[in-house]
Amino acid sequence: MKKDKAEKNNSTKIFIGLIIGGIIGYIFNIWGAGPLRDGILKYVVSPVGIAFLRALFMVVVPLVFCSLVVGVAQLGNVQNVGRLGGRLISFYLITTLFAVLIGQFFISTVRPGDGVSAETRDSSVAAMQEQVASLQAKSTAVNDSLWPGLVEKVIPKNIISEMAATNMLAIIFVAILLGIALLAIDKNKSKVAISFFDAISDACIVIVGWIMRMAPYCVAALIITAVSNFGLEVMKNVALYIGVVIAGYLTHFFVSYSLIMKFIVKIPIKEFYKRILPIVSTAFGTSSSSATMPTTIRTLEKNFGVPEKISSFSVPLGATVNMDGTALFEVIAALFIAQVFGVEISLTGQFTLVILVLLTSIGVAGVPGGSIPILISAMASLGIPPAGIALILGVDRLLDMGRTVVNVTGDAAGALYLSKIENVDLNGHIQETS
Ligand code: ASP
Repeated sequence: MKKDKAEKNNSTKIFIGLIIGGIIGYIFNIWGAGPLRDGILKYVVSPVGIAFLRALFMVVVPLVFCSLVVGVAQLGNVQNVGRLGGRLISFYLITTLFAVLIGQFFISTVRPGDGVSAETRDSSVAAMQEQVASLQAKSTAVNDSLWPGLVEKVIPKNIISEMAATNMLAIIFVAILLGIALLAIDKNKSKVAISFFDAISDACIVIVGWIMRMAPYCVAALIITAVSNFGLEVMKNVALYIGVVIAGYLTHFFVSYSLIMKFIVKIPIKEFYKRILPIVSTAFGTSSSSATMPTTIRTLEKNFGVPEKISSFSVPLGATVNMDGTALFEVIAALFIAQVFGVEISLTGQFTLVILVLLTSIGVAGVPGGSIPILISAMASLGIPPAGIALILGVDRLLDMGRTVVNVTGDAAGALYLSKIENVDLNGHIQETS
């Protein structure tokens, strides 16, 4: 009980850190570049944030691998793995489709691109030429990396090098395979291996707990660094676009997930939002679903009583392939740029965009700005000028924070949905820990 209280206090502290970080970041922003300000940011603030990010990334591979092996072995048989996997992927696809439709509704109704002048458009494109060119070069590799590249991403030649590169799809594939194989061998032998992986995964969760104790200060540091570098001037030019994206995020975050919690998972909506606070704050601070993964797994287990066999299975898969916020953002960004350039996208084009975004969001890396190369490639295939990305790059850090929050909330919702299907008593745990 004492531990639960400390956990709750920490969630509140992280939230306060987020707000204080935003205020200090804003002060730094209007203070403007200069030796003292830049020195404080570089030598004091930024190392604190970097330490936090690195510490979280440090735990991702051992935690995901070990807990997934144990999780699969606990599922009992291959059929269960297939059944849960199928349900989870369907859940992720349907929620992402909803997110895309919300994005499409907002961008087509408000049409923020119509109000951007040709002058603003041309000067942004000219100012960002180099940055856009390098992103465009990256995006040309995107199509191949989706197919047939997916085969290479999933089936590794050497699991150690894939682990070193944090290639999540390969890690997930091998962990599931190993878990299934452990089910097939002599029980006495597999028991030893399973308890070994179980101990490592438990120890990783303990380490995540230690890292999260530092989160209030570290999240504040990450926010200060991000906000102090926002281009507030650039923001004015595309204010309506920012508003539309944020409205889309908020709708999916508060409406779609509330409906899922109320009618499908059947837990109190208020408890859901209160208890996911550590996940939300970490995602907001880091802009990375991958870095947030350890926090997501730990929070689901501690705050909702999600069993390891479910969290270890659904969260890594979700953080890698389920990107509701990203998909929502991509539709708005692509159509916004089309509006600014006066490119009319037909109904068929819009439909293609929906499908394209739905599928390509799977290939987006869960790191800051991971979606930008994929977005450029989607735009190019619809005849939207890729150079237009220049208009939104300057404000993307802010929107990236929001979409990462929506992405990880979707992962948490997926784990809760599976728990519900598996008859886990989530309400019992919530009452016990209230
Ligand atoms: N930053 C996002 C994430 O990690 C990916 C993106 O949309 O850029 O979930």
